[in-house]
Amino acid sequence: MADQLVRKHDGRFHWEGVDVLAYKQEASAPFRDVTRQVLFDDPTLATQLRYFEVAPGGWTTLERHEHVHNVMVIRGRGRCLVGERAHELAQNDLVTVPPMTWHQFHAAPDEPLGFLCLVSRERDRPQLPSEDEASSLAKPLGG
Ligand code: MN
Repeated sequence: MADQLVRKHDGRFHWEGVDVLAYKQEASAPFRDVTRQVLFDDPTLATQLRYFEVAPGGWTTLERHEHVHNVMVIRGRGRCLVGERAHELAQNDLVTVPPMTWHQFHAAPDEPLGFLCLVSRERDRPQLPSEDEASSLAKPLGG
């Protein structure tokens, strides 16, 4: 991958030489209709840049961890939960997920939500909420 200095975008959020991967390996974490592409993974940098895409009506896992996320929406619309609050998301919005903060991304019912996510290469394993914790958090889609 690193030997190819320019990798062309195909106009549909796929890039030359970049595999479209399953969002997570573990089937235990709840999510729906999410793909993952690792855009930059340079061993000489401390970070990776990934592109996630949530299909219309889909969502990422509700989770928290010590590592932070720096997110930029580049496709579609949706909502995110960060900590106690749900926020509307549109193209080019930026989202910071601080350490140990519950977070989840939902696509709009009629549009995908695609976002870049900058993250440490070294990162701790996500924690999932208990049922009590999950029910006390805001619902990004209001239900
Ligand atoms: Mn996360």
